[in-house]
Amino acid sequence: FLEAEDIWVEFNGKPAVKGISMRVDRGEVVAIIGPSGSGKSTFLRCINHLQAPTSGTVKIDGISVREGKGGHPKSKELTQLRRRVGMVFQQFNLFPNLTAVENIMLAQVQALGRTKKDARGRALALLDRVGLEHRANHYPGECSGGQQQRIAIARALALDPMVLLFDEPTSALDPELGAEVLGVMKEMASEGMTMIVVTHEMSFAEDVADRVAFIADGAIVEQGNPKEVLRKPQHSRTQRFLKAVL
Ligand code: ATP
Ligand code: MG
Repeated sequence: FLEAEDIWVEFNGKPAVKGISMRVDRGEVVAIIGPSGSGKSTFLRCINHLQAPTSGTVKIDGISVREGKGGHPKSKELTQLRRRVGMVFQQFNLFPNLTAVENIMLAQVQALGRTKKDARGRALALLDRVGLEHRANHYPGECSGGQQQRIAIARALALDPMVLLFDEPTSALDPELGAEVLGVMKEMASEGMTMIVVTHEMSFAEDVADRVAFIADGAIVEQGNPKEVLRKPQHSRTQRFLKAVL
């Protein structure tokens, strides 16, 4: 129900993403792996149009935003698309001057028009779900990195997205704190959340993802069953990458 078709992105005439197409089913978890600078983040950002592709189409649940030859995206379509897609970044991006619960309430009130009371109730339930009910009234600066990232995940979930995008959500964390975050993500996956995860965590890719896509030089080199791609890669480029990271 998510379909990215022939996505190209150029920066100053230099292509960073070269015709990536990807279909994701409802409830599917896709891990994207690949070397630094290969276009993983750029492609991911195209899915919610944080990055406008030079050409190509992203369609989610029947809503499509067309770029390039078809002209500029309509802002109505863009708003609809963004409402369906949540994103979690490497650097958490929480508002430092708002408490955990306020961080999770803000967009619920501003974007969805929920009452403060409803937004607070939902925020507290989500904090409980990520194991942080005791942190509700703390500021991000008073929380560990792993806690901040779990607050960021709760914030994304609060908008009831149809799909969640993660860009290296554990890269800024010590392994132990990263494991807390991966645990929450694993739980979400088992509850049927559709997720696309750019990650360097090969064990997460193998254990949790339904599919692994290896991207190099702006294109998908190979993708498929995690165990097959990670243990028996078919392409020499994938073999070289895995040898270096495993
Ligand atoms: P990493 O694993 O290091 O995060 P990545 O696979 O996510 O790498 P991207 O961030 O998508 O790679 O970058 C792909 C290419 O596009 C790189 O060569 C990068 O320098 C370039 N690039 C990314 N964003 C921009 C931008 N806003 N302006 C110009 N060039 C950019
Ligand atoms: Mg990146």
